[in-house]
Amino acid sequence: MVDRFGREINYMRISVTDRCNLRCLYCMPEEGIDYKLTHKDILSLEELARLTRVAASVGIKKVRLTGGEPLVRKNIEKLVEYIAEIPEIDDIALTTNGVKFKVMATRLKKAGLKRVNFSLDSLKPERFSYITRGGDIKPVMEGIFTALELGLNPIKINTVVIKGFNDDEVLEFAKLAYDYPLHIRFIEFMPVGDIKFWNEDKLIKSEKIKSRIEHEFELALPDKIVGSGPAKYFKLRGGQGSVGFISPMSNHFCGECNRIRLTADGKLRGCLYSKEEVDLMEAIKQNANDDELAEIFLEAINNKPRHHNFGSGWGKENERKMYQIGG
Ligand code: SAM
Ligand code: SF4
Repeated sequence: MVDRFGREINYMRISVTDRCNLRCLYCMPEEGIDYKLTHKDILSLEELARLTRVAASVGIKKVRLTGGEPLVRKNIEKLVEYIAEIPEIDDIALTTNGVKFKVMATRLKKAGLKRVNFSLDSLKPERFSYITRGGDIKPVMEGIFTALELGLNPIKINTVVIKGFNDDEVLEFAKLAYDYPLHIRFIEFMPVGDIKFWNEDKLIKSEKIKSRIEHEFELALPDKIVGSGPAKYFKLRGGQGSVGFISPMSNHFCGECNRIRLTADGKLRGCLYSKEEVDLMEAIKQNANDDELAEIFLEAINNKPRHHNFGSGWGKENERKMYQIGG
């Protein structure tokens, strides 16, 4: 399916829950969220699988499970299994904080999980604990090494770079990509989520991070593109993995955007940063058939804006938070 700006939309991110077992400073409020979504407010695994089948019928080929923390959703492996059975879907990925990954990894792989992105903002245990408000880095690192052992590929690490907090660790992250077949993606800090924590002084642009890495490592263009996301990748000459840069602030990539987003409560969004959404949950409650659901998908794809507009203000534009829409 091609949208009105000529972009092929073939990727759906599904936020399977708004809950999380961490409380990252820039994402969630300290006291936790006031959980509005109860069991009956969220789509069942079977409904999520049905909607994914319908999405596949209008051109979706890749699915990513995210949240909140997707691994806290009960029986998430079952959803992976359902999606793996849809012939048009050729890629099932996961974005996780990694806390529960090690214990679930084998089951997830068996169910059909192809690849995983871990979020990791510091390699230092005390800093990790600070930014996640009390999280333990140990199971996360074990999760990353378990993914390597299981041969999931590619394994990406998302690192939000925050000036004065973790920008001094950029080279240590690059070293990790040098030593292991890991793809570290440095993400510019965006004014989304819990925006009380964001301010412009904490933003450090990708170009600056890249030039710091270039002082220590020789960067070269990769032989093949690692996934179809918004990152610009470079391999580290002589090393095993790569570094990538995601620059929503300094260089938006909306012209190449190929995605739609489904929330746990059944709303479909064309853009993370726009409040426009269509209601699939309501349609399911009204007993819509698959053709009617497909129409709703087409509507969301058609309504995808040309580009995001941070300028209009995340807080004003979005009643929902990042953990509710899916990062
Ligand atoms: N809990 C999972 C995790 O942390 O990977 C999935 C959901 S989380 C919202 C998805 C990603 O969004 C994480 O990598 C997180 O760092 C990123 N994220 C959240 N708020 C952000 C912000 N203000 N700027 C940049 N990235 C952000
Ligand atoms: Fe949870 Fe991910 Fe948000 Fe951190 S970034 S609080 S792990 S949803």
